[in-house]
Amino acid sequence: LLSVANLKKSFGSFPVLKGVSFELSRGECIAIIGPSGSGKSTCLRAINYLEPPSSGEIRLEGRLIGKHEDGRRMSDAELAPQRADMGMVFQSFNLWPHLDVRSNITLQPRKVRKMPTKQAVELCDTVLAKVHLSEKASQMPHRLSGGQQQRVAIARSLAQEPKLLLFDEPTSALDPELVGEVLTVIKELARDGLSMVLVTHEIAFAREVADRILFMDGGVIIEEGPARQVLDQPQHPRLKQFLSALG
Ligand code: ATP
Ligand code: MG
Repeated sequence: LLSVANLKKSFGSFPVLKGVSFELSRGECIAIIGPSGSGKSTCLRAINYLEPPSSGEIRLEGRLIGKHEDGRRMSDAELAPQRADMGMVFQSFNLWPHLDVRSNITLQPRKVRKMPTKQAVELCDTVLAKVHLSEKASQMPHRLSGGQQQRVAIARSLAQEPKLLLFDEPTSALDPELVGEVLTVIKELARDGLSMVLVTHEIAFAREVADRILFMDGGVIIEEGPARQVLDQPQHPRLKQFLSALG
């Protein structure tokens, strides 16, 4: 489904991604773990061209992201549908504060995809049910808990009907007692076969939900494999050190 080949990104002369390559199959969940500053967020942002990579290739269903086959960069208008194919869920949920939950969710389908209102509202009902918030459609974001807001943000991404979701530490801004409800939703989406790349510090969760784990350090993937193998039989000294520091 997704192929990332030799992705590099520098800020000024500072290389943050030094050649990241991996493939994601349809229905697969990949978790990316690694120390702070290792380039995990930059990698996700480069994949959907929020942060255009310095070099390397990203392909979704075989089609180049961000560039034409002759290497010319795409315009923002050309990029927009590609970005919508790869929904991104951030640490901070960024709901529109002046719009209720339903309007937050139906905005992109109605405005960008020109979906008729009735159909957009049905889609909204479907995605809200998936995040267990059917009763909150008319609520304003500030009336919701952080965990509920993040679940609305996930529903909003789902309403774009993306081919995969990219999660960047979706629970790290939440109070501890609200983390579980968001992780439960992500786990259910993974079980339903949604393809996803998940950057997380929640190692126990990564073990449970991820098919494969990539360990990033210093802008490269230094170890990868099935979740249990990576976590239970780490090979690289840096991964051993990272895991033992987590306790
Ligand atoms: P964390 O676990 O703390 O979220 P991370 O693995 O997501 O870390 P990144 O956010 O990708 O790490 O950052 C990797 C490096 O790139 C860091 O040294 C960071 O300071 C640098 N960096 C990220 N974004 C920019 C930017 N826009 N301009 C300059 N440097 C940046
Ligand atoms: Mg990050």
